[in-house]
Amino acid sequence: MIPKYSFIVPIYNEEENINEMYRRISQVMNQMDDVVELCLVNDGSRDRSLQMMRELHQEDSRVVYLSLARNFGHQIAVTAGLNFVRGQIVVILDADLQDPPELITEMVEQWRQGYHIVYAQRIKRRREGWFKRFMAYAFYRILKRLADVDIPTDTGDFCLLDRQVVDLLNAMPERNRYIRGLRSWVGFNQTAVKFERDPRFAGDVKYTFHKSFALAINGIVSFSKVPLRLSTYLGLLAAVVSMFMCLLVLYWRIFIPNSPLTGVAIILIAIFFLGAVQLVSIGILGEYIGRIYEEVKQRPLYTLSEVTGFEQQYQADPQPLDMSSSSSN
Ligand code: UDP
Ligand code: MG
Repeated sequence: MIPKYSFIVPIYNEEENINEMYRRISQVMNQMDDVVELCLVNDGSRDRSLQMMRELHQEDSRVVYLSLARNFGHQIAVTAGLNFVRGQIVVILDADLQDPPELITEMVEQWRQGYHIVYAQRIKRRREGWFKRFMAYAFYRILKRLADVDIPTDTGDFCLLDRQVVDLLNAMPERNRYIRGLRSWVGFNQTAVKFERDPRFAGDVKYTFHKSFALAINGIVSFSKVPLRLSTYLGLLAAVVSMFMCLLVLYWRIFIPNSPLTGVAIILIAIFFLGAVQLVSIGILGEYIGRIYEEVKQRPLYTLSEVTGFEQQYQADPQPLDMSSSSSN
């Protein structure tokens, strides 16, 4: 039976969370009016996660899973899930129960009202450090100002997508997958359901500061050309400042010939200032060129070592490179 609902859960070293996550999600699955599949995506976990996924599949045939051949990162894990799920209605949620599965019924209600995309919007983050809250707050507002699509603030990847949108996302060729940006980019009828984000059920955060920072840069660079223009502005500013300095030096030459300021200091300032402007500009260029490089390489987004439970595959687009032949069952 082809499922109508697909829930995608990316998993990276979540052995402490998997059973509780399954318990809560299966309660929601039991309430649904049609066939549901729970697609777990193992993102190269090094703990017992994959083993537990296999066990869950044995116990409950609604559980299907993919295993990426190494850790490719959260966005790629979700992308892999989107490539494989078969449902008409697809929901993406985290394994650590920070995205309450009970909200899914509310999201489906909105889908019935005719919305193609229903994203969950945090109105509160419970018990997360001030630094993370502050960074997230600042980032979403900067992104909103810079990005050329309207990416709603305080939304993560927790969302419901209609099949039409999933097919569009799957057809997008880009390697840099900032899913919440792409999701806004496609358009259609979108709406929010508000929720309070719970703390992690167990285990440590898998998004390290480094990964979060990389995701933030990715979001801005993938959806805005403003940083590129920034170097033009800085260059213009530097030009104005240096003209001003020329006038100043001229003034000192004529009216205060003995001023000590005409000497080394002003030259040093000019050198440092211009050096800084150039380095920042080169850095910004690098961010974009690096992404162009990623895109032209045309490497597959991920490699798979195990695919289980998808015997009736949903076929819309050519599947990315599948390294395995281990489609069991
Ligand atoms: N995750 C993943 N690959 C990674 C990092 C995280 O699949 O490289 C998964 C993780 O297992 C969890 C979700 O992404 O289900 C969100 O991760 P986390 O809770 O650490 O991030 P945060 O809550 O800070 O967004
Ligand atoms: Mg989390």
